[in-house]
Amino acid sequence: MLKKYLIYFMCFIALFYLNFNFISAYEYIDPNNEDSVMDKFNEIYDAKEQYEDLVGDYEETEIINVSNSAYWWPVGSEETTEKNGKLFAIGTPISVNVTSGFGGRLDPFGTNANVNHFGIDIGNAGHGAGEVNIIAARSGEVIYPLDSSQTSYNDNGTRTDGGGFGNHVKIKHSDGSITLYAHMAKDSITVKAGDVVEQGQVIGKMGHSGDSTAVHLHFEIRLGADSSKSSVNPLDYVDPSNPRPTSSGGGSDFSLVSTILSKEEFVAKMNDYCTRSGKKGFCNNFAKNAEEIYDVSIDSGVNPELVVVTAGAEQNWTLSSACSYTNNYWGIGIGNGKGCNSGGKYKSLAEGIVAYSQVLSDYNVGGKREQTITNRYNERESAGCNASGHGLPGTLSGMQSLYSWIGNYRFNPGNYGLGGCVYLNIMYGDNYCSTKPTCTDYNNCPAGSETTVCEQNDYTAWQIDKKLQIRYDIFGL
Ligand SMILES: [Zn+2]
Repeated sequence: MLKKYLIYFMCFIALFYLNFNFISAYEYIDPNNEDSVMDKFNEIYDAKEQYEDLVGDYEETEIINVSNSAYWWPVGSEETTEKNGKLFAIGTPISVNVTSGFGGRLDPFGTNANVNHFGIDIGNAGHGAGEVNIIAARSGEVIYPLDSSQTSYNDNGTRTDGGGFGNHVKIKHSDGSITLYAHMAKDSITVKAGDVVEQGQVIGKMGHSGDSTAVHLHFEIRLGADSSKSSVNPLDYVDPSNPRPTSSGGGSDFSLVSTILSKEEFVAKMNDYCTRSGKKGFCNNFAKNAEEIYDVSIDSGVNPELVVVTAGAEQNWTLSSACSYTNNYWGIGIGNGKGCNSGGKYKSLAEGIVAYSQVLSDYNVGGKREQTITNRYNERESAGCNASGHGLPGTLSGMQSLYSWIGNYRFNPGNYGLGGCVYLNIMYGDNYCSTKPTCTDYNNCPAGSETTVCEQNDYTAWQIDKKLQIRYDIFGL
């Protein structure tokens, strides 16, 4: 009550100030009508309370503001692999150089100098037209070419029918930015408008079409609008000496924090999968709540696809009945290793998703676990483990490398599962880990009973594969 009168007092002061400055304040509140003034104060007080609630919510819910948005160097490796019908360049990218830098900055003094090169040119390093894989620098939706008539201009460097860019691709990314890949080889482009492509996916080959003096790639990053004037220097975003800045696995990552799907698309795909799969748990617990999952996830800064695939990978679409609250299952809102009693208890799916986003933020760039992930990445890198099982903070593989922790010991005598041995047998075959040490003291387990760095790494890769497969099954991404 005291607090309320303090607010009243402050409002009187504010009104005094307003009355001296804006005559309209009289029109708004009649000072001779005490009831209306008090009503207005009550409204202001209520509004203030609402505002404080909002601010409180905002402060409690740590928004993840760092996304896996880094662009990859757009030139891929020679080696490729097919995954879910898409071709990915894996391994070390073909070594090429920047042959012409960005000169498209508009002269601030209006002399109009130096406005003709809005991207960088990447040389062919001795390779012919159609020999070097060009990859999507980020995941996104293709907006050009519209059809195959725009992909078959000759590799003769003569600007005839295809305009200056010749055969080219434009991809729009989740933040609205656009990447452009020009002068590609005749009939090499494998994507068209409407296709959803993943980071690292091969979209065509380097060529010599359009206005080109030699086989090369003209690469642009456009921020804000699909126009040359929105182009920025790609070398501020990509580094030829560090071509895969956020992940070591080609095409295996997707954003932890955002989706390219609109709400309508997300809901439609969820319902479609319900119909196709006939999985009751999915239909009842997830497809039915697709709109809410999308809204709460976006508001909490987590990719709604990730929420869904995590639930599928961990619980196969069932909600836990072991806990007294229904949405209290591992992966959504419960940190690794915590059961019903020590983990969070959530009364609704929405609460679980919000909690999940908070757990995830620990695993992201700037999060509490960032350094641990980086250390693990380096450790696994130097041990020569399968690259798809370890990644840097901000990536799925980076997050997963801690989140799907397999346990230091093959037989974990703790309360929450049997540890590594169970999973090693699933991954490598039943007899891989037939001897389960029965030690109860971690510090005195028999020598050789520890899971190796690469075994833990392989488990992570296995988890990622599982999630990617579920994601593909539902969303086609
Ligand atoms: Zn160029």
